[in-house]
Amino acid sequence: ISRRRADRRPVVYDPAMGTDVAYQVRLQHELRRAVERGQLRVVLQPIYDSRGPAARIIGMEALARWTHPELGVVPPQQFIPVAEESGLICEIGSFVLKEACRLKAAVDAAGHEELFLSVNVSRDQFRAGGLPEEVAAALEASGVAGDRLELEITESLLMEHTAEGEQQLARLGRMGVGLVVDDFGTGYSSLAYLQRFPLTKLKIDRSFVSGLPQDRGANEIVRTILALAGSLGLKAVAEGVETAEQHDALQQLGCRQYQGYLFSHPLEAGEFKSLLVRRNQGGAPSQA
Ligand code: C2E
Ligand code: MG
Ligand code: MG
Ligand code: MG
Repeated sequence: ISRRRADRRPVVYDPAMGTDVAYQVRLQHELRRAVERGQLRVVLQPIYDSRGPAARIIGMEALARWTHPELGVVPPQQFIPVAEESGLICEIGSFVLKEACRLKAAVDAAGHEELFLSVNVSRDQFRAGGLPEEVAAALEASGVAGDRLELEITESLLMEHTAEGEQQLARLGRMGVGLVVDDFGTGYSSLAYLQRFPLTKLKIDRSFVSGLPQDRGANEIVRTILALAGSLGLKAVAEGVETAEQHDALQQLGCRQYQGYLFSHPLEAGEFKSLLVRRNQGGAPSQA
């Protein structure tokens, strides 16, 4: 049932493949092999603090990457769901956590210990129960400080609010690890959980940012999220900032942290380090 390709040219993912069951089965098989063979890697997207025109790198998000020798680049939107359905996400999550901490330690060694590292965590990594121990081990092995690590979790995870999950989040909070609600505003509408967990930051979803500055609704939603974060003592970061107009609108609304193609695409660790050397002396965000 595998798709045999006459040529071995890498192909970029075609959305039409997403509904192909045979392709999904193959992806699952290939992903398992990729994990065993160490073919996954981690890239870093800088996160900026910007007041006025100057922008400074204050952290980075670790993002998983998979390039298959025949299939080419398989985007996370394809392989993360496959990993979640097949149970591989725990292994992949462990790899990303350890690798991201290792990369962060290399950045630290270049004199940038103050930067935070943000790592995405799937629901099943909490279900397994040992996430706080795993995080403690990754921090210990890399020498990264607990208060320099953030975990990005989804609203749906928080909505489950099992006693077990709550305990794990509380333990992580006590370790100084930040807890960020990713894609905030796209999940459930109940806000009760914002008080229940030791959250530290809301990440405003790209779908709202992309409506700025024209869309009135997007403006009001972003304004409301920023006000909510402010009144709960949480930080806020805007993701998917692509244009100077979006950045200006966000600044007007009082947002301080930014991530997006306007500032930088996700980078290989080496590129990230050279960017740090060039950028953290100040200057306006480049459009490049
Ligand atoms: P996310 O956590 O919300 O990550 C942000 C995504 O937006 C990344 O896509 C990033 O490359 C992309 N992005 C950043 N700036 C811009 C922008 O200005 N415009 C646009 N259009 N996109 C931007 P990526 O790397 O393809 O990852 C997609 C999703 O896959 C992530 O969304 C996250 O949910 C998941 N993912 C990626 N790596 C991991 C991982 O290690 N573990 C888990 N559990 N999920 C991951
Ligand atoms: Mg994220
Ligand atoms: Mg996000
Ligand atoms: Mg998002």
